[in-house]
Amino acid sequence: MAYPSDSTAMKPAHPPHTEPDWPALLHAKGLRVTQATLLVLELMQQAHSALSHEELERLVIALDASNKPDRVTLYRILERLCQAGLLRKVRHSDRSWRFALAQEQETGNFECTECHELTPLEADEKLSEAMALIGTYLKTKGQQAVPSFLNAQGVCAKCVN
Ligand SMILES: [Zn+2]
Repeated sequence: MAYPSDSTAMKPAHPPHTEPDWPALLHAKGLRVTQATLLVLELMQQAHSALSHEELERLVIALDASNKPDRVTLYRILERLCQAGLLRKVRHSDRSWRFALAQEQETGNFECTECHELTPLEADEKLSEAMALIGTYLKTKGQQAVPSFLNAQGVCAKCVN
């Protein structure tokens, strides 16, 4: 007797690997785990594309939930998540900023001081070595934090000319 190959009886309702452990990630980055922050991360994940502050605000307003974060709170959360490297800021062609979930292989952001474009710094052996070095330096100052995300500033290739 053959069993139907598309039987879902044995499959768990939710695949265990798709949702990142946001509270643990926030904690690891030294950020407070708030309902509003988790909400933003969840909406970002559902969007599958970069969202502007306004688009995110509209999604939040449309939610049937209490204690919805207001515009200012949303903005602060977005900025904080960017600084922590969980989100990244991308300049849209209409010159507005969009926010997207950072990919795991990103180790930092390079921000141009002229055009303010943020470029993700992808994982690289040299960068990892540099971060380890910063961690070692911090330890000599009694700080145990190992930097997990690099925020670099300078002038980008487009603006340098
Ligand atoms: Zn630039």
